[in-house]
Amino acid sequence: MRYYIADSAVFIMGTGTEAHRLLTVPSVVNELKSYEASMRFELAVESGACVQSPEDPFLEEVREIAKRTRDCEELSKTDIDVLAKALEYRESSMLLTDDYAVQNVARVMGIEVRPVVQKKIKDVLIWQKKCVGCHRSFDEGEICPVCGSGLKKSRKRKI
Ligand SMILES: [Zn+2]
Repeated sequence: MRYYIADSAVFIMGTGTEAHRLLTVPSVVNELKSYEASMRFELAVESGACVQSPEDPFLEEVREIAKRTRDCEELSKTDIDVLAKALEYRESSMLLTDDYAVQNVARVMGIEVRPVVQKKIKDVLIWQKKCVGCHRSFDEGEICPVCGSGLKKSRKRKI
């Protein structure tokens, strides 16, 4: 049977995934704060979803690889647990996550990844100008109207 390794987004956002194929880790369950997310989790378990602790050798391998790809600072303990479980079932599972650092490490480890929420607008960058002197932000211009230093283009946010 093919498993879906679920990170918390699966229960927070909800997906049409078959519950009896869901597999997750205890730290994900502990992250579910909202009533809706807890309900989704309870229902999934009733339908056969499974919670399993990650095992040490896989946790170690994930930490090792995350260090190499420099994603280690972005990964929470829960992320590492989820990745370790996905690594354990690498041959027969697909990891469901929207976290970029998790996706990145998973790909390096040869784990198949599927996003939880298909984004309509993907990685749209919003740019702004930032003063190199006083660090104020502006929508446009070359010279800071406050301190007279130069403005540099910088990334504002992703939507
Ligand atoms: Zn300035």
